[in-house]
Amino acid sequence: MSVSAVAPGRSVCAPLPVLGRDVTVPLVTGGEVTYAALDYAASAPALQRVWDDVAAYAPYYGSVHRGAGYLSQLSTELFESSRRTVAEFLDCRPDDEVIFTRSTTDSLNLLARALPAGCQVFVFATEHHASLLPWRDARVTYLDAPRSPGQAVDALERALALREPHGPALVCVTGASNVTGELWPVTELAAAAHAHGARIVLDAAQLAPHHPVSVRDLDVDWVAFSGHKLYAPFGAGVLAGRTDWLHEAEPYLAGGGASRRVTRRDDGSLDVEWHCGAARHEAGSPNVIGAYAIASACKALTEAGFDALVEREQHLIRRVRAGLAEVPEVKVLSLFGDDAPRVGVISFVVEGFNSSRFAAALSAEWGIGVRDGLFCAHPLVRTLLGTDPETQGECGAPEAAPGEASLNAVRVSFGAGT
Ligand code: PLP
Repeated sequence: MSVSAVAPGRSVCAPLPVLGRDVTVPLVTGGEVTYAALDYAASAPALQRVWDDVAAYAPYYGSVHRGAGYLSQLSTELFESSRRTVAEFLDCRPDDEVIFTRSTTDSLNLLARALPAGCQVFVFATEHHASLLPWRDARVTYLDAPRSPGQAVDALERALALREPHGPALVCVTGASNVTGELWPVTELAAAAHAHGARIVLDAAQLAPHHPVSVRDLDVDWVAFSGHKLYAPFGAGVLAGRTDWLHEAEPYLAGGGASRRVTRRDDGSLDVEWHCGAARHEAGSPNVIGAYAIASACKALTEAGFDALVEREQHLIRRVRAGLAEVPEVKVLSLFGDDAPRVGVISFVVEGFNSSRFAAALSAEWGIGVRDGLFCAHPLVRTLLGTDPETQGECGAPEAAPGEASLNAVRVSFGAGT
């Protein structure tokens, strides 16, 4: 269950063990084949180490922050130490907060709810919908698709120069595209944001599984990522970064854990004092196992060493791209061009083939799991395909007529973590 299963050859470092490696699947043509999971950008297989850690802890878990018993204390310690592990993994500043959420989508929605009044938001229209849509209650400037990292920085600079000079502003940018795998110039965009008095949040959903993310080096104000793309199971994510906007905001969820004191006033109404800190936005019983699993994955990746992981992944990218280049009908989608630095996410169309049927055939006839569609980044994929927004849906798009552009795409994605 790794890319080397379909692209055999010299490995530059040993893959980490993954749960369920060598899953066999039936083929429509009869027989079985070892499944090749090439949809890591959607969800990466969980590491064996993560499952082992979770299984070792599972018999002992209890509620956190609200029990005097031994198991509650143990769980609280594991939950809080997971927070510290994530802070270390992200190289956070000492005053930063790590909030456990459900996912990247949840993290960005949380931040969107914490925007100060009058905040202006700047976001490229090429973003994944999780980064594109949460800000719609604010004043949002959607920036057109840039055709190079330099153009992205220039476009942001120009847009920020036109903004009202006083008042809060936020830039939201992805670190690595879930469509093209291309890396965005995060450090430069962060510098541009700060030069114009804006804050910046990094959507690291596709970056964190592939590259080290240092909040300090990148100089971003917040970072969001999901556990299930980082070789941990579903259900937990992270928002990490500056505390001021978060502490001033209404809690993301109202409930126990977020409230420090609740009293009734003389008129019968409630007077609520909310917690500061991460607890303010973590109401209810938190997903302790999910947080612990993320911390376990962070440790596994750190111990494997990102230098070795990046080297192995780049090797795999070269092999997959070289293989695709041998097929004249294949057109790989790219915003910044062939030489752009990228992670293991490659989208393409095959001339004469409907992408959804092509992806279904890869699964049914070859046991290769990929994704088809517009990848929750509709404006970007339409830009790359040059298609009309009115004529297509997410999946199962109709066959393009001969000579017409494909209406959706196929995506293979992988990582060196497994
Ligand atoms: N951002 C990017 C770049 C993504 O690729 C994805 C998911 O594919 C998300 C955000 C949303 O992640 P989640 O579905 O875990 O919230």
